Amino acid sequence: MAQIVKIKSIEHLTHDVLKIVADRPVNLSYLPGQAVDVAINKPGWEKEWRSFTFTSLPDDDHIEFNIKTYPSHNGVTNQLLSLSSGDELVIGDVYGDIKYKGEGIFIAGGAGITPFIAILKHLEKNNQLGNNKLIFANKTKGDIIQEEKLGKLLGKNFINVLSDEQFPGYEHGFISPDTIKKHMDGNMKYFYLCGPPPMMDAVGKHLASLGVSEEAIVKEGF
Ligand SMILES: Cc1cc2nc3c(=O)[nH]c(=O)nc-3n(C[C@H](O)[C@H](O)[C@H](O)COP(=O)(O)OP(=O)(O)OC[C@H]3O[C@@H](n4cnc5c(N)ncnc54)[C@H](O)[C@@H]3O)c2cc1C
Repeated sequence: MAQIVKIKSIEHLTHDVLKIVADRPVNLSYLPGQAVDVAINKPGWEKEWRSFTFTSLPDDDHIEFNIKTYPSHNGVTNQLLSLSSGDELVIGDVYGDIKYKGEGIFIAGGAGITPFIAILKHLEKNNQLGNNKLIFANKTKGDIIQEEKLGKLLGKNFINVLSDEQFPGYEHGFISPDTIKKHMDGNMKYFYLCGPPPMMDAVGKHLASLGVSEEAIVKEGF
């Protein structure tokens, strides 16, 4: 059943990504990596459901989202830009295909990082980060969501790929089969994939060309 919750804080993480912290709905249960239907409790917007992924952990006393906004378009994410603490969200059904199955490579594009933020925070909490790796594709360095946090979690296992900018220590271009191959090792059983559909299609083809079976891929399109 949908529940109304109050926003505790709302701030910019990057030029177009908001971090929203809200009260935890009563009896909410979710797994790291899962998403939920969210609407804004404002006249005309209460039934405009959109999917967002929890970046909080199931045991936290609050819920958190990292949301990329599209201000050029009068949709829900543009409306979120005008909210402040005390405003309300409607929280609906929980769902989502991404869950952690075992060590592997996480491959994210843009806001597709959100399920992996929750999973990696959960692994850190349980001392299970192991040799998991993250390949994160963005246009520019300024677009990278939670770069500092992810760097702290993963160290050398955090690989950034920038398509529109060259930076020392950051790979340049789109994720290619070589980008993935370089970071694969024999123990990598799983490939976690999340991002916009064109990126998902391209990386899906790269994984197939590297001999990765469909069963080894855990994915969700944004
Ligand atoms: C399971 C799941 C989990 C998700 N989790 C997250 C998350 O944690 N964080 C996150 O940031 N996103 C997440 N998304 C994506 C998010 O749901 C969408 O970005 C969001 O619904 C956009 O809502 P909107 O109302 O602003 O745009 P909508 O009105 O729904 O339109 C969305 C699309 O319109 C396009 N568009 C942009 N400008 C225009 C324009 N001028 N005219 C027409 N179309 C335009 C955008 O490219 C966008 O793809 C998730 C998606 C799924 C499926």
